[in-house]
Amino acid sequence: MTTLNTAIRAGKNALKSRSLEACPALVLNADYRPLSYYPLSLWSWQEAVKSVFLERVQILQVYEKKVYSPSFTMNLPSVVALKNYVRPARYPAFTRFNLFLRDKFMCQYCGAKNDLTFDHVIPRSKGGLTRWDNVVAACAPCNLAKGNKLPEKAGMIPQQKPYRPTVFQLHKNGRLFPPNYLHESWMDYLYWDTELEE
Ligand SMILES: [Zn+2]
Repeated sequence: MTTLNTAIRAGKNALKSRSLEACPALVLNADYRPLSYYPLSLWSWQEAVKSVFLERVQILQVYEKKVYSPSFTMNLPSVVALKNYVRPARYPAFTRFNLFLRDKFMCQYCGAKNDLTFDHVIPRSKGGLTRWDNVVAACAPCNLAKGNKLPEKAGMIPQQKPYRPTVFQLHKNGRLFPPNYLHESWMDYLYWDTELEE
């Protein structure tokens, strides 16, 4: 580990360029699928190199960029896979991003894609809970128009009844919304462009 720490320090000192920081490793599970999609499982180059030395991961792809220490030279890993399989969660976390992803970044009342907020279908003031099955993506104008009214009263029914998605369902939607930055060496492990199948 001392050698490794030296290397990491050396890497930091010798290559203070942002480019080194812009070398995250895509982390795959032992089945070569990304450990998580939302957010995409990425490690800093330091974490990736450390895990290689701890023999927790194997390197599948590398960057051209190298780190140097007195005793070794190493290409920075761009894709690593865990040696031990981690059972993925069946249900995703209830986060703002995942909620928007479930609703395909679309207001569930009018279909708008901008100015998104989230709306309690049964308003909180009427006992509605902040849960997957009561919250939908809604644009600010629709949110305002609906206010504290029940859907029937407001005449605003969500296009899709809110539900708790599985990770699998979010993955399907996620292919429609790839993250902004994807290194080319990751492409074999991500299938953003795959046709959606029902
Ligand atoms: Zn709307």
